[in-house]
Amino acid sequence: MKEYAETRKHMVERQLAARGIRDRRVLRVMEEVPRHLFVDKNSLGGAYDDNPLPIGSGQTISQPYMVAIMTELLELKGHEKVLEIGTGSGYQTAILAGLCHWVFTIERIRSLSQRAEITLSQFGCQNITFVVGDGSAGWPSEAPFDGIIVTAGSPKIPEILLDQLIEGGRLIIPVGDRFAQTLNRATKIEGGITIERHTPCRFVDLLGEHGWSKT
Ligand code: SAH
Repeated sequence: MKEYAETRKHMVERQLAARGIRDRRVLRVMEEVPRHLFVDKNSLGGAYDDNPLPIGSGQTISQPYMVAIMTELLELKGHEKVLEIGTGSGYQTAILAGLCHWVFTIERIRSLSQRAEITLSQFGCQNITFVVGDGSAGWPSEAPFDGIIVTAGSPKIPEILLDQLIEGGRLIIPVGDRFAQTLNRATKIEGGITIERHTPCRFVDLLGEHGWSKT
């Protein structure tokens, strides 16, 4: 464990702080959360490397820097209710759970959702609700949210997700084609939507009614 603590410190310094991640709460939580518990056994040696890794079912755990920048863009203070679309390994979920009041997380692949729930229960995260389903439509019965984060690439910003933001709320979503996207942040201000485009990125597909179709 000690060995990993040292590796995590390096990850935070070299991959995150050195590249401009400034939110101290984000840096602290990423130094604490044991990323190696979220990767496949045969990726253990590379758990803190500067890249995404396979987590089974053709999906990936995002690169640490991408997790950090997406989280920083949410500007969490601690009181928020956040919706995550694409639970995957549950690593991003754990980071969010350490920074806000409650996380609702949706995953379309049942085996991934179940594994993430087990991993997260191992270190006592209790402010998370998991569900299996198509998150491209959001979670209307739990809306509105202070923040929504989509950890899969979408052809567009789904209107239905914007409808589920509170005034001042933020949606973080990679938008582009199936090979390359740009991280977008949409903020609801006085009922209108302001969109900023951030870093280039590459995510697996957001599949579903308001994302890509399977074929
Ligand atoms: N945040 C995750 C990233 C996982 S990859 C992590 O750090 O591990 C993206 C995930 O989005 C995949 O697990 C994929 O199955 C899921 N996904 C894709 N489309 C989805 C949809 N419409 N609803 C819910 N999950 C979806």
